[in-house]
Order: sequence, then structure tokens, then C-alpha cells
Amino acid sequence: MSSPVTVRVTHRYNLPADKVFDAWLMPAVAARFLFATRTGNIMHCEIEPAVGGQFVVTDRRPVADGDESFFDAQHRGTYIEIDRPKRIVFDFVVEPYTQAPGSNWEWWRARMVGGRTNHWGRISLRFGPDDFKRKSIDGLGDDWPIGYDDIKPYYDKIDKLIGVFGTNENFPNAPDGIFLPPPKPRLHEIMLQRSNAKINIPVIPSRLSILTQKINNTREACFFCAQCGRSCKIYGDFSSSSVLVKPAIATGNVDLVVNAMAREVLTDKNGLATGISYVDKADMQEYQVYGRTVILAASACESARLLLNSKSERFPNGIANSSNVVGKYLHDSTGADMGGILPQLFDRKRYNEDGVGGMHVYTPWWLDNKKDKLDFPRGYHIEYGGGFDMPLYGFNWGIEQLNGSYKVKGKKKEAGGYGASLKEDYRYFFGSHVGMAGRGEAVAMKDSYCELDPNTVDIYGIPVLRFHTKYTDYEIKQAKHMKETFAEILHAMGAVSVWGGDDGPENNYGLHAPGNIIHEAGTIRMGNNPKDSPLNKWAQAHDCKNLFNVDGGMFVSQGDKNITWTILALSMRTSEYIVDQLKKNNI
Ligand SMILES: Cc1cc2nc3c(=O)[nH]c(=O)nc-3n(C[C@H](O)[C@H](O)[C@H](O)COP(=O)(O)OP(=O)(O)OC[C@H]3O[C@@H](n4cnc5c(N)ncnc54)[C@H](O)[C@@H]3O)c2cc1C
Ligand code: SF4
Repeated sequence: MSSPVTVRVTHRYNLPADKVFDAWLMPAVAARFLFATRTGNIMHCEIEPAVGGQFVVTDRRPVADGDESFFDAQHRGTYIEIDRPKRIVFDFVVEPYTQAPGSNWEWWRARMVGGRTNHWGRISLRFGPDDFKRKSIDGLGDDWPIGYDDIKPYYDKIDKLIGVFGTNENFPNAPDGIFLPPPKPRLHEIMLQRSNAKINIPVIPSRLSILTQKINNTREACFFCAQCGRSCKIYGDFSSSSVLVKPAIATGNVDLVVNAMAREVLTDKNGLATGISYVDKADMQEYQVYGRTVILAASACESARLLLNSKSERFPNGIANSSNVVGKYLHDSTGADMGGILPQLFDRKRYNEDGVGGMHVYTPWWLDNKKDKLDFPRGYHIEYGGGFDMPLYGFNWGIEQLNGSYKVKGKKKEAGGYGASLKEDYRYFFGSHVGMAGRGEAVAMKDSYCELDPNTVDIYGIPVLRFHTKYTDYEIKQAKHMKETFAEILHAMGAVSVWGGDDGPENNYGLHAPGNIIHEAGTIRMGNNPKDSPLNKWAQAHDCKNLFNVDGGMFVSQGDKNITWTILALSMRTSEYIVDQLKKNNI
């Protein structure tokens, strides 16, 4: 990865500061200079001048200088700081996507080598046998064309290749693996184990792809700095950039083309894939690469976008899309959270706080939706946080507000403060927090989908996605169940809820917007019937035998598990299939 580039642009206006300041936030004035180009026209300028508010500016420009055809470039961002009349801070989305009315899909992308595995949570769970045949169990959605036995050998290989800690527990639908020893639970995790036992909610060692033992000579065992989210310098945790891409390049058999924004899959007159056309982000020119086989892995939505953008006479609505299903069945894990403080741990001592940058214990789905007569069809697991965890951003779980509510060493203070007194307060409350997050299965629905927006392209001129997503009652009722469970867990621990406890029907019980849990899946699903699935059971396009897709797009449903371990296992299975088919000259 290259280091970030800082650009400083200075411009002096011969006007009072407040006039210049207002010009940035008044649509009528801003539309005259913000994003205006020599040959373009600003068509639309919407500004919501508040922290958290957004701006959207649409600029219609010629495709090239002097060209008669035009495209709309959309510029969007959110205000982070507004300090009149001195300072405005905003973020800036350079690759937009749009939403149909009522849709609130959040699309989280990481355009870098290794993608989102550079900063993922490393929770590495296998799907269980039931996760591949949900329709047979509850009549909703569809079964996968494969079962657990088809994927198990690849989970085993991935476990050994990458390394994952955990314990074999014999849960029927949270399969055991080939695990490295788990790290010891820390104080808040021991408390969770004990108090959850009283309310019959299991707490078992978590399963994270972090090396608690060395497995080869290119990576070291974790030394418990708890900073996985900030990248591991010894490659103790798994990111595909360091653990898969680096060794692949070292073989000398891989050419890595960075800064390439793929636009479409190229085809020949027989409808076979011949390569990829991409825009080089550095010089904005279009290039092509050719190959005998084309494998997409750009993430579920981006791969769907690529297929939909690959139109030709033979594939008028996009390649691999004779079923018209590309983009459909888009879904994410559900999510709802809650956290509290344990007053008995104020001013606490430190015990064993060593650990990885993530949880040491978790709760797999422990109920049976049918037998336990739940009013929602699918399950969820619970992820835990707490103790002396470090904030990734912000202040951490509202610690900065506690001194106004609780006495510090017997003394009541005003909320807030500064200097030595505030430091004392922070030390007093730090380590007393416990938090939990439910991550569950949503039912994949055909009418939750992404499609090409006919009116908007990104800065490379590539049509963007427009999302149409919504949750059903299944997910909302599941979120309600999560919240009730979390309240029960906090109560059993003797904790006081400090966040996430006030959600109710008015906000779907705190159910995160779809996409926010960052497990996008289902847009290019596999299935035996080419009429309702773009891919076959090998993740090979029904319509184009040398085209494959190996990201979350191929999922039929996603279980109550985080999806990455299954993406890895399935993509390894497809890789072996491709090698076999190439050897047999079938593709
Ligand atoms: C903060 C966070 C925490 C997470 N925690 C977990 C977890 O604990 N467990 C879990 O299982 N999952 C977790 N996930 C999800 C996990 O990261 C994803 O499931 C996984 O990375 C998906 O892999 P992918 O290869 O499909 O997509 P990505 O990781 O998004 O990779 C896509 C790659 O394609 C490239 N690309 C995209 N578009 C184009 C294009 N047009 N042209 C060329 N290249 C392109 C991107 O640059 C990127 O390198 C988390 C994600 C985040 C962000
Ligand atoms: S805690 Fe994470 S970042 Fe730190 S050494 Fe272990 S794996 Fe690496």
C-alpha cells in the first residue's frame, strides 16, 4: 500500500471571512464554483449545512473535451465539523452509489490490495449443515446447491493454511474446526461465562484467525498487543494482503496490477470471457488484460456491477444474467448492539488483560426457532467486547459522560472537566465496560437488490449501482429478541445499560441499516437452475463457462455467521475446480 498523500491548497479571497464561509454552504453560491469545470454544468446542488448533514452536487460533463455525449458525475460528502466562520471539515465520496426511495443500504468498500480483510474483525466461523438448507427447514428463501460435506474439506484446508484459534464444542450447527489454542478469557469474559450460565446462554471460546502459535516461517505468533484493527506488523492475524497475496507474488507466477478500476468483462463472438477492461486510476486511461479464465472477486455488489456493466449483443442485460437475477437477493447480516458498565469494577485492579485485538469468547446461536416457538425464522450469534479495550475512534462507550452520573472515589463531580481531575475519572471508569453485538441471518429476498443507475456514473465514467433494499418483520423481530437477550445478560452480570438500551419499535429496535454489518452477499447466487441463478455449484457462470465469481455474491444465504471464512473455503474449492477443468481442456 502506498502512504497517504496530503495536498494543501491555499486560496485567498478579498472578502470578509463570514462571506467566504457562507459561500461554501449556500447552494446558490456553492453551485457556481464547487466542482464546476470549464466544460461542465452543475445540474443539482443540495447542501444540508449541519454536522452529519450531506452535500450532493451533480455535474454534467462531456465524456471527453469537445465530445457531444455527456455524463453526470455526482460528488457527495458529509459535514464533520462546521466552525463558523473559520473552518468546515467534510468527507468526500469519490465513488458514489445511489438509493431508490426508502432504501438505506450502506455500502462499505475498501479499495486496496486485500480489500476489507485489512481491517476486518477476524471472526472466522464455518457455516453449519443447516445453513445450506434453510428452505427445507423453514420454507423461506432457497437451499444451496451444495451442502456442508462439500465445503468441509476446504474449511479444513483454510484452517491449516491461515490459522484460526478456537475449541471443538460439538455444536451441531457451529461446526468444529482445526483450531489453534484459544487465548485465556479476560475478567469481563470470565464474568460473562459465569453469569450467562445462570440464564442458559452458552459462552464459548471465540474463533478468530489470529496465530496463537507459529504455523510457518513468514508469520509470527501473536504477542497480544490488542491492535489488530491497526494492522499487524508481524502478520500474526489474517489479512489476505499479507497472508495470501504476498506469498502468491513471491512465487513469481502472479502479476499484480494496482490502481485498476475494472469496468467490464470482455467477451468474444462465442460469448466466452476473454479478459477485463479497466481504467488506470493514475492516468485515467482505459486498458485491457486478457486470460483464458476470468474470475471476479470484487465484493458481492461490485462484482454484480461489473457483470451488469458487461453488456454486448449476446448479453444485452449484462453477462451471466440471462436469469435476470444478477444484483437480486442482496442481503447483509442483521445487527443490533447494547452495552453497559459494571459498577463493581470501578477503580478496578488489573488481572490477566493480555489478549488479541478482538473477543476471546462468543455465543453461537443457541435456540431453535421452530421448537422454541420464536416469532422470527433465523438465528444470530453474540459478539462481546469490554474490559480495557482501546477505542478505534471516539472516546469509547460514553466513558466521558460517566463522571456526571457516578461518584468518583466517593466524590460527586460535574460531568466533563479537564486536566488531572478528568484523568482521574477516566482511570476510575476504564475497564468497567461490557458490550455485545448480535449478528444474525436475514432472509435473502429477490426484491432487495442493486441495479445500474441509468443516470449516474462515477469519476471513471462507469455507471454506478442504485440500491433497493429493505428489511422485513423477520429481521425486526430478531433485533427485538437480541435487545431483550442483551438486557437479560447485562442484568445477570449486575451491569447497568449505558447505550443501546432505549431502542424500540420506533427505530426497529436499533437494527442497523442493511449493509452496515459489511457482510454483503447474494447478488450472483449459485444454484442448479440457470433460470433463477447466475452461477452453478462451482461458482461458474451458467451462461459463460470460463467466467467465475468467488466473493459473497455467490451466496444463496448467509447463515448466522460472519461470511469471510466461507468465501475463502468456497473460492479455494472453485480454484481447484478451475485447475481441473483447465487440465481437461473443458474451459
Ligand atoms: C470493519 C470490518 C469488520 C469485519 N469483520 C468481519 C469479521 O469479523 N468476520 C468476517 O467474516 N467478516 C468480517 N468483515 C467482512 C469481510 O471483510 C468481508 O466479508 C470480506 O473482506 C469480503 O471479501 P471480498 O473479497 O468479497 O471483498 P473485499 O474484501 O471488499 O475485496 C474486494 C477487492 O476487490 C477490489 N475491487 C473492488 N472493485 C474493483 C474494481 N471495480 N476493479 C478492480 N478491483 C476492485 C477491492 O479493491 C478489493 O481489493 C468485516 C468487514 C469490515 C469492513
Ligand atoms: S494482537 Fe493482533 S496486531 Fe497485536 S500481535 Fe496479535 S495479531 Fe498482531
